[in-house]
Amino acid sequence: MSGESTLAIIKPNAIEQGNTGEIIAMIEQSGFRIAAIKMLHMSTMQAEILYEEHKDKSFFGGLVNYMSSAPVIAIIVVKENAVKDFRILIGSTDPADAANGTIRKLFGATLRQNAIHGSDCAVNAKRETALFFSGFEVH
Ligand code: UDP
Ligand code: MG
Repeated sequence: MSGESTLAIIKPNAIEQGNTGEIIAMIEQSGFRIAAIKMLHMSTMQAEILYEEHKDKSFFGGLVNYMSSAPVIAIIVVKENAVKDFRILIGSTDPADAANGTIRKLFGATLRQNAIHGSDCAVNAKRETALFFSGFEVH
């Protein structure tokens, strides 16, 4: 499987609403290959590490509580320009601002419960992938 890899996380609201299958189908139909996938219930500490760049923000506590409140699905997705193109596929952080046809526009409920995470740069993609998967390399 060749190309760049990035980390996606389907958030609790999308799973609870039964949107997992549609979201994965959109990812595949947009040209991404799934290299690894895992459902897990994050600990508070794991969520704190995932979002450590936001630790001083007012929304940090609520975000960490939310992301560790119920299971999520972590996915390594692979494609040329995966990091940038996956951010385009998911849309703006706030579903209300996200472009039509993006995952957050279709399945996001609120700014916090915005259905899906995507790494914002290659360095974070590598760091975040290592939080969920060991020994992963794209060849
Ligand atoms: N978030 C929030 N309130 C805010 C901004 C962000 O609850 O005011 C949540 C939202 O779920 C977002 C996550 O924190 O996806 C990380 O924020 P970031 O700015 O990194 O957005 P993203 O990279 O996910 O688009
Ligand atoms: Mg971010």
